[in-house]
Amino acid sequence: MQDKVTPTARYSAPDADEFVEARELLEKPLDKLFTVKPVRVSVPEKAVIEPSVACDQCREPTMRSRLIEINGRHLCRDCAGL
Ligand SMILES: [Zn+2]
Repeated sequence: MQDKVTPTARYSAPDADEFVEARELLEKPLDKLFTVKPVRVSVPEKAVIEPSVACDQCREPTMRSRLIEINGRHLCRDCAGL
């Protein structure tokens, strides 16, 4: 005998008012929706690109510095269980 499954939430289709609100929002000029101004943002350093090395277990190419050495084997994070 199967247990009866009772949904905890029900989907309801949007009503007409919600469609009108959505349409009004989509038709507004962008300057009414957003404030555009110059900002100062610090750009992060370029990422260091290292050659890939195959994981000793799954052979997945992995960035050398991301391999984890366990009992002399160099493993990717998945194979290392991380
Ligand atoms: Zn692996």
